[in-house]
Amino acid sequence: MTDRIVVLGAGYAGLGAAKRAAARLRRGDAQVTLVNARDHFVERVRLHQLAAGQRLPDLPLARLLEGSGVELVVAEVTGLDLQARVVRLDAAPYSLSYDVLVYALGSGADMEAVPGIREHASTLAAPDQAARLRSRVGDSGSVAVVGGGLTGIEAATELAERYPRLTIRLISGGRIGDGLTEPARRHLHRAFHRLGLTVDEHAAVTAIGADGVLLNDGRELPAETVVWAAGFRVPELAAQAGLATDEHGRMLVDPALRSLSHPEVFGIGDAAAAHTPGGASRMSCQTGLPMGLQAGDRVADLLRGRQLRPARIRYVWQNVSLGRHDGVTQFTRADGSPLGSALLTGRASARFKEAITRGTVWAMRHPGPYRPAA
Ligand SMILES: Cc1cc2nc3c(=O)[nH]c(=O)nc-3n(C[C@H](O)[C@H](O)[C@H](O)COP(=O)(O)OP(=O)(O)OC[C@H]3O[C@@H](n4cnc5c(N)ncnc54)[C@H](O)[C@@H]3O)c2cc1C
Repeated sequence: MTDRIVVLGAGYAGLGAAKRAAARLRRGDAQVTLVNARDHFVERVRLHQLAAGQRLPDLPLARLLEGSGVELVVAEVTGLDLQARVVRLDAAPYSLSYDVLVYALGSGADMEAVPGIREHASTLAAPDQAARLRSRVGDSGSVAVVGGGLTGIEAATELAERYPRLTIRLISGGRIGDGLTEPARRHLHRAFHRLGLTVDEHAAVTAIGADGVLLNDGRELPAETVVWAAGFRVPELAAQAGLATDEHGRMLVDPALRSLSHPEVFGIGDAAAAHTPGGASRMSCQTGLPMGLQAGDRVADLLRGRQLRPARIRYVWQNVSLGRHDGVTQFTRADGSPLGSALLTGRASARFKEAITRGTVWAMRHPGPYRPAA
């Protein structure tokens, strides 16, 4: 009998899992089906570049899957029946039965975090959103980017570099680049100054309106365009189906990435909270890709009756671009804490990040030789 493996989501995690499982199993023994809402792979880590008017590499999933034996189904997943082991879809074949399911539906912008995001803000979590932002910003005008994490920093600096006549402010409820060392944060602020950004730290946005943002201290900051980059949220499908999830709806998984409630389901990428030395995995490509490849291995081990080893999910760096020619790479311990003064800045960091981003797509094409950091 042929085992049916269905992987939901062809992001960094799901694409890696599908290809690795297919590579480890004989075609007659197993059929791997990958379901994704789009027929292209989205390099989410480059979406701020798309928003700033750059062209991104064209990556059709069919080409990335060539020769792998993985069958691609382009459809939206609308529901899961865990009892019957069936996935429901909005397009042909409308349903898929599975023996093993890999849940990798990623995350999207948190549209409910404060009032007004849906009506008035632009977001960056998906290519259509980034393209809309690109069409909104012109050569001049004012933009407020909300979010002092890596996505907000990358978006604000990319826009500032591309459109020097734009007035851009970066607003954060806490410190910008929290978690980085002081030398790394100093470099960020030097770049903000060079690019002419106004920076508001410890300024929590409580609402977004048609003309700007409202802060918790009552101040109103005007902006023609507001970019919400302050939070991501996972799809509700896992929790709705009855999979064990945490309070954010992320799948709870054991050390081998299997659902705590349904061991025939693996959870990976942003949509799952996996064990790392620093606690639950952060939403990142850095954890998503190793989770995917290791889930693919464990699916193969499960079907061959082997014992499943714990996955090794480790952090290596925090890598933030500041436009195309500057950046900060903070090397970290396995738990994500900064590794002393191990830091790359400027062009060296920008080149390093570009190499890593390209290397990630290379690993998607060739998921065989890649091994996650020990
Ligand atoms: C602008 C930006 C910059 C970033 N920069 C970095 C960075 O520098 N470093 C880093 O580590 N991380 C970065 N991230 C985060 C990183 O992109 C995510 O953590 C990563 O994409 C998660 O991978 P994933 O496979 O879990 O999910 P995704 O990449 O989101 O893939 C999920 C897939 O599932 C599909 N899908 C979702 N719902 C459905 C459905 N119902 N039916 C069918 N298909 C569905 C989606 O279309 C998508 O293809 C950045 C994110 C953004 C937005």
